[in-house]
Amino acid sequence: MSADKIGAKEIKTKNRRSIYNYIREHGSASKQDIVVDMQLSLPTITTNLDYLKKQGLIDTSGKIKNTGGRNATAFTYVKNARAAIGVDITANHITAVAVDLSGDIVSMDRQRIAFDLEEDAYLRKIGEVTESVKNDAGIRDEELLGVGISVQCLISDDGERITYGTALNFAKKKREEIAAYIPYRNRLVHDSYAAGYRETWTNRELQNAFYISLSNSVGGSVIIDDAIYEGNTHKGGEIGHMAVVQEGGELCYCGKRGCFDTVCRAGKLADYADGNVEAFFKALEEGDVTAKRLWDEYLGHLTAAIHNVRMLFDGRVILGGYVGAYVGRYMEEICRRVDERNPFGDRARDYLVECRYKVEASAAGAALFYIDEFLDNI
Ligand SMILES: [Zn+2]
Repeated sequence: MSADKIGAKEIKTKNRRSIYNYIREHGSASKQDIVVDMQLSLPTITTNLDYLKKQGLIDTSGKIKNTGGRNATAFTYVKNARAAIGVDITANHITAVAVDLSGDIVSMDRQRIAFDLEEDAYLRKIGEVTESVKNDAGIRDEELLGVGISVQCLISDDGERITYGTALNFAKKKREEIAAYIPYRNRLVHDSYAAGYRETWTNRELQNAFYISLSNSVGGSVIIDDAIYEGNTHKGGEIGHMAVVQEGGELCYCGKRGCFDTVCRAGKLADYADGNVEAFFKALEEGDVTAKRLWDEYLGHLTAAIHNVRMLFDGRVILGGYVGAYVGRYMEEICRRVDERNPFGDRARDYLVECRYKVEASAAGAALFYIDEFLDNI
């Protein structure tokens, strides 16, 4: 194919995508609005609107009231024209969500079940929750873009293999084994990347950010220009294995000592309350002396890490994961302790935020992989 032909095809696709994005952003628009705002020819706009309508991506049943003239057809964005599902697998839960083209969660199912990939019943459960959110949201097979499976592992580029997965016993599992009962297109997604992406996808202010996931294990993701920066070998943002305790540090699940994970995983707090993070924070609020001491130690490490991340990236820092969901009322103290370290006079309250999405962040982020893929290829 000649370079010219490729160029013409690219322009055609680009026009279609921009017209779709215009309608998506405005919710609804008349042909005249599009002509004026996008400076494209009427035939180009008409052809693309016909195509988008045929795909079910826009609706033309409404009218836009014109002052004086006759009412014009409204080309309206159909946010549930397609959907994707995300499933997050953790030590004690399987969480599934269905999201529409706007990234909004349209159904959710969270089941408490102990992680065990060797057990057929467990694999069946992964399939069941997927089916349950699909049915609840009324998603037809042809509307489902795919199923992103969020796992506490490093993942190969194609989403097929686990390259490192010792936080839970993922060993060398392949995608097709984990997704044995998911009869739809699917791929694996690294959980911290998924959660971080979820935060930035819906909040454009977070163009550059670092997401710290404080869950059963500690992970992170670097977001640069709205995209996840994965590094050269898909290990970018692995903040959990930064060496932070110089000598005599606790043994990390990775086999090394003194990792950030060993001092800031959720268990450092939750273990004091029978493994329940919520119960820990309740004790803390009630003034429990041991809880206060544990929290103080925890914050010492956390605020140092936040400071270091800020020094490296100069972007927003988001606190997420199980602990991130409860830090709200302690943000003032956290900010104060971070600011004590800052040599430039930056104010943490200007760049440090708690996560917006709590338990479902990784599942929703994994689904967004397919939403993005679809939007990029309209
Ligand atoms: Zn480690």
